[in-house]
Order: sequence, then structure tokens, then C-alpha cells
Amino acid sequence: MSFITRFAPSPTGFLHLGHAYSAILAHDAARAAGGEFLLRIEDIDAARCRPEFETAIHDDLAWLGLRWPTPVRRQSEHLAAYAAVLERLNTLGVVYRCFLTRKEIVALSLSAPHTPGEGSDGVVYAGPVQHMSADEEEDRISRGEPFAWRLSIRYSQDLLGEDFARLGFVERDEGSNTEHMVTARPALLGDVILGRKDTPTSYHLSVTHDDALQGVTHVIRGEDLRASTHVHVLLQRLLGLPTPVYMHHHLLTGPDGKRYAKRDQSLTLAALRQAGAYPAEIRARIGLPA
Ligand code: GLU
Repeated sequence: MSFITRFAPSPTGFLHLGHAYSAILAHDAARAAGGEFLLRIEDIDAARCRPEFETAIHDDLAWLGLRWPTPVRRQSEHLAAYAAVLERLNTLGVVYRCFLTRKEIVALSLSAPHTPGEGSDGVVYAGPVQHMSADEEEDRISRGEPFAWRLSIRYSQDLLGEDFARLGFVERDEGSNTEHMVTARPALLGDVILGRKDTPTSYHLSVTHDDALQGVTHVIRGEDLRASTHVHVLLQRLLGLPTPVYMHHHLLTGPDGKRYAKRDQSLTLAALRQAGAYPAEIRARIGLPA
């Protein structure tokens, strides 16, 4: 069986020990399976991504002893491909333009009686009760109003019929490597954003497209992205793409008991490297074998 996995960071800060854990776990899993480990740069958020963070990603991972094939895919170079995917979803009738402001969405999501989870941006929008008329939409577009393209769970359900309830994926447990089936619940995050007026993609869209394009068979990433997987499985079904095996690993916590975050400058790999740490010490510190 082929085994292709990847580490897909966004260059919006320096990598920390939590990233090292994720990257090494994926790298070692590929090595153990005789498979391939890819690096992908998820840099679609032009306002937050910086070249020095991207350089540091390469330097830190190479310092840790990881190797990957080149050229490395950089998502910012493939916006036309993502736009085509968004157009396809539009043709299928499963996306819509949402003109609500973030404030309005927050107000709506708070008043939702059964908010089942938390959206990637912290809010879950269950979608409009009634869709906008073509006239109103035309009018708002011509007035230049900003909007987000959202994936409609309701329309997806209508399109897929009984298949919607049968969506699922194989989850591999961290540690034991045993696998089990998980029923997908794409509504967990509500109607997520797949693009914006001036950006033809979002994390959910580009990650799903790229994992399929790059032949990724195993996605290994933190459990903070577990709910997103349910959305990705729906997108795969809508787009006719294969569903990889998923492993959501636990998130590392620092000495203060809190999750490592990009704001913890002292615990970045770059800082540890410059302070004279050895890669073997990093592995030991995050509980991974040498
Ligand atoms: N680019 C995402 C991040 O930096 C991770 C993508 C993924 O592993 O699916 O959090």
C-alpha cells in the first residue's frame, strides 16, 4: 500500500515544539511505512504570511533531520486552481455568497439554539433560513459589497441525498495505530467559508484540493483540526476526490499547561536552535524516540 503524508504549516509565525511534534510524527510514519513525507506551504493569507517565517520553516525542519522532495508546493502560486474548484462547487449549487458581516454572524451564531461545535474562526453559522433573491444578490454585487463564499450544508445534503448520512472516514489512533470508521458530521462547523470576494479560496478548500492532488493517503495533524476533517470529507465527496486516512494527534502543552502557540517566542524551534539545543533533545522533550 502506498503511503504519502505531509506537514502543511502556514508561514504566519515561527514553528514551535507543537509543530515539531506534528512534523516528526508524520515524517517518522512515512519512514516506517516506506512512504513519502511532503512539505507544503499554506500561504494563502497574504496579509499574515511572511517570507522570513517560510525560510525558518525550511531551516527548522532540515535542522530536525527531516527531508522532503522539492519543489515544495506553495499554495499562493495556485490560486487559479482553487478558483476553478470554487467555480465547480458553484456549478453544483452547494456554495452561496454570504453578505453578512462577522458581527452579524456572531450575533446569529450565538442565538442558534443548538450550536454543535465551534467554527474555525470561532463561530458556527448554520446558514440562512432563506436564500437571497437573485435580484438582491445582483444589486449587492453591483454595489461592490464584500461577501464570503460559504459551503451550504443544507444544499450539500439535498444534492447527496442518502449518501450524505453515509459520509465517513477511517481514523487511525495515535499510539496504537489501530483504525476505526468515523461517521462524518459536516454540520459540526456550520456553513464554512470557502472563499471571499477577492480571494478564491480558504483553508478548507485548498487543503482538500491539495491533499488529493498530491496523492496524500494519510493526513496526520493536530486534534484542533478534527472538526475540519468532517468538512473536508464532505468536500471530497462533492468533488469526487478520495478520502485519506486521518490521524489527529494530541496537542502538546508547555510548562504552563497551555498549548504551544505561535506567540510563545521563547519556545520557537528557531530560538531553541540558536540557543544551542540539539535535534535529539527536541525529540526527547516532545516524547518522540530518537
Ligand atoms: N496550514 C494549517 C495550519 O497551519 C494546517 C493544515 C493541515 O495540516 O491540514 O494550521
